[in-house]
Amino acid sequence: MVLFNDFGAVFCAIKSLNSTIDPGRIHRSLPENCPSLQLNPKRMSFLQKGSKSYSIFYLKCPRCHEGEMFETGSWSFKKSFDMLERCPKCDLNYYPEPGYYYGSMFISYIWTGWFCLLFMGVFFWGLGFSQNTAWALLIAFMIINFVYIFRISRLMWININVRYDAHAIEKQNQPK
Ligand SMILES: [Zn+2]
Repeated sequence: MVLFNDFGAVFCAIKSLNSTIDPGRIHRSLPENCPSLQLNPKRMSFLQKGSKSYSIFYLKCPRCHEGEMFETGSWSFKKSFDMLERCPKCDLNYYPEPGYYYGSMFISYIWTGWFCLLFMGVFFWGLGFSQNTAWALLIAFMIINFVYIFRISRLMWININVRYDAHAIEKQNQPK
């Protein structure tokens, strides 16, 4: 897709060069002529508001992508595992039912398993570290990021069930 967009951009640039030669097209501006350039913002959408990965990695409310899910920073030792009850911005209930987050443990097993394999692969086979060093690095990495891993697993879980709603905060603030 990225490659396609690049080709599209080059194609449009050439087209606009032609249009400067053709007096009939001279006033048309480049962005309007080029649908592929208008597609370009999608390239960056992976970590932008509105995508699930934004909510997961920035630990934001899955509905409004504004409110925090946790009170403290991910690398602080205070209240590391305490989640807020509701979204402070759109009032989404973070605990729809008791034991809701048991499922997030399975999610974290699955993705941390794959992550460990990848990590070992990169350091052991890719970069030629000894097996012991690669293990030590992996364990150190997991300890340092333990709280963050716990948190993004919960975010992944709640993001399965909750969709982004761009107007969630407005709806919440409307008089009932
Ligand atoms: Zn919210």
